[in-house]
Amino acid sequence: MRLYNSLTKQVEDFVPNVEGKVGMYTCGPTVYHFAHIGNLRTYIMEDVLEKLLRYVGYDVKRVMNITDVGHLSSDADTGEDKMLKGAKREHKTVMEIAKFYTDAFFSDCEKLNIKRPDVVEPATNCIPEFIHMIEVLLEKGYAYKAGDNVYFDTSKLKEYYVFGNQNEDELLVGVRDDVTEDTNKRNKNDFVLWFTKSKFEDQALKWDSPWGTGYPGWHIECSCISMKHLGEKMDIHCGGVDNIFPHHTNEIAQSEAYTGHKWCNYWFHAHHLNDETGKMSKSKGEFLTVSLLEEKGYDPLVYRLFTLQSHYRKPLVFTYEALDQAAGTYKKLKNRIGSIPAEGEADAQAVKEWHDKFAEAVGNDVNTAMGLTLVYDVLKADISGATKRAVIADFDRVLGLKLTEKTEKEAGEGGAGDISPELAAHIEEMIEKRKAAKKEKNFALADEIRAQLADEGVILEDTREGTKYHLK
Ligand code: AMP
Ligand code: ZN
Repeated sequence: MRLYNSLTKQVEDFVPNVEGKVGMYTCGPTVYHFAHIGNLRTYIMEDVLEKLLRYVGYDVKRVMNITDVGHLSSDADTGEDKMLKGAKREHKTVMEIAKFYTDAFFSDCEKLNIKRPDVVEPATNCIPEFIHMIEVLLEKGYAYKAGDNVYFDTSKLKEYYVFGNQNEDELLVGVRDDVTEDTNKRNKNDFVLWFTKSKFEDQALKWDSPWGTGYPGWHIECSCISMKHLGEKMDIHCGGVDNIFPHHTNEIAQSEAYTGHKWCNYWFHAHHLNDETGKMSKSKGEFLTVSLLEEKGYDPLVYRLFTLQSHYRKPLVFTYEALDQAAGTYKKLKNRIGSIPAEGEADAQAVKEWHDKFAEAVGNDVNTAMGLTLVYDVLKADISGATKRAVIADFDRVLGLKLTEKTEKEAGEGGAGDISPELAAHIEEMIEKRKAAKKEKNFALADEIRAQLADEGVILEDTREGTKYHLK
């Protein structure tokens, strides 16, 4: 397998610390609100990566935290605590908010066929681990107390900007008009490890510590939770590109200061989903959630397909037109697969050859679009129906699109569900021919195809999601 590594800015051969095993960590959600489909793009891509690692034979252990304490609404240790904000908005306790939105997050993941990580650990479960790491950082001289808080001293590191590509202007902490600089800090990038007194509104949840009753800063949780379950060295750390600075930069600073050695070898960052106006947000414009897409009639797996059509390292713009196209593609693809005759046995050798082809193509830096192309190649290939189905089911271990499964809706709704596979294939072929005719402006031929199908009892209907059909 080859993977782009944000640390080296190159696509590299993937070599784990221990042969055959992968320790993988994912920054989990801050559970103060529903996830938007942008957040979920990142989780889909991480899910594909995990499934791909398993597909090529690795034994993967994946760990995810749940940020239920200490994530401030600005990444500069400024602003309001996100969890507290959610609790105030909904007149609930912070823990009620955390439970509700953690459940909502995993329910969205299930709808998108995102596997639950092997370990899911809320930050509030690990306060003793955080305190221990902060104590060691103080002992080693990497942290200092000031104004009743504990800070990480970034000037003690040989290199702080490990990802290298920060623009100094973007890094200026505390210079926005609405933010006053934290005068406790010795250096502008120092960050809080433990708060006992914040100039911001206090947390609802507090714990005793050697520095007084208080609560952890945001970054410490990922270092501690990953080490608790994966040890002091791990293979792959994932997140969205916005996590690179300051979150992942700070995670590396404190983890390597604590252990005294390199912590994580590969950094996998998924690029953002944007809307047409720019960055997606939970507060501006339409709040795009999986539930909203469902209310509008989309199968959540259509959104999964939409994200797989692009490379994870490129920004992706969400529009309903693009989603409609994905919906059309998904429907046609499932109809085609549903109409493959399944008699006989699959050819194991051929399945293995396609498996290797898929591993090679998609394994080249998680090339999901190439994985989808291979599905079409299989459909066109000169192999038996049973083999085609077996190969596509095998690919779907990574793609996660339920390509060979019929949904209850499809089974009861007509289309490929209650007509013969041969007829469904014939109709799809005619629809494709008609589409090509229309593209060439041969409308006479397009009408002829429609009329011929009507004679056969099949009625076509052109919709925004493509051409649908039903029996007379
Ligand atoms: P949060 O719940 O804010 O901690 O974010 C959860 C995950 O979503 C993190 O890995 C972020 O990097 C990622 N993320 C945030 N915004 C977007 C976006 N617009 N597109 C893709 N991923 C995002
Ligand atoms: Zn993290």
